[in-house]
Amino acid sequence: MYIIMLGAPGSGKGTLAKELSKEYNLVHISTGDIFRENIKNETELGKKANEYISKGQLVPDDLTIDLVKNRLSQEDVKNGAILDGFPRTTHQAEELEKFIKNNNPIQTVAVLLDIPDEDLVKRVVNRVICSNKECGAIYNTEFRKPKQEGICDICGSKLIKRADDNEETVRDRLKVYHDNSKEIIEYYDNENVLFTLHPNIYSETVLEDNLSKVKGHLKEKVTK
Ligand code: ADP
Ligand code: ZN
Repeated sequence: MYIIMLGAPGSGKGTLAKELSKEYNLVHISTGDIFRENIKNETELGKKANEYISKGQLVPDDLTIDLVKNRLSQEDVKNGAILDGFPRTTHQAEELEKFIKNNNPIQTVAVLLDIPDEDLVKRVVNRVICSNKECGAIYNTEFRKPKQEGICDICGSKLIKRADDNEETVRDRLKVYHDNSKEIIEYYDNENVLFTLHPNIYSETVLEDNLSKVKGHLKEKVTK
């Protein structure tokens, strides 16, 4: 099965994607993580992508679509994957659907985390992530604190802030999200594969709540 995570920056889709990836033993593919890794390693792709990412804009479709198609062609994703941060435009969604039909026609489910913008801004400016890319755990200095400040609970690595997690860039990213998301959400709704959650981000158990709702939904819907 392919699980497509939809939701604005800060909606918690990355954290939920990681949990679902463990639960269903599916590879978690985050286009944002792949771009950040390329930026860190100063690859050609990283240099190009950073011109857009640092401004809160989308990386152009041609770069992004090729990247995802290559990743989805690898052996470890033949049973499906969790797609986090892709598709973000209708064109990406159409290209993904074509790719899945032609290469690996297994079931697709889209999960939308629907959260008010003001909550998202608060979440993103307080977000910190694990610097160890094998781990990549996500914390929040207000809502999901690590046990020890600045240190990852899971692997002990240093926690860092993403360069694009500042108030100005997050407002730009939210605008970009709203410009594109309506069409994508409609797209998956029309395909009858959309499952929408309205998480209460102030609840201590928001992640567990999201996870159990998605599991319940998948139990009903997924046949292969
Ligand atoms: P967030 O959901 O918090 O914005 P991501 O890690 O998913 O964070 O993405 C970070 C940045 O990477 C985005 O703002 C965008 O510039 C770029 N990016 C990620 N995925 C895509 C995509 N599918 N298409 C275009 N740009 C993307
Ligand atoms: Zn870690």
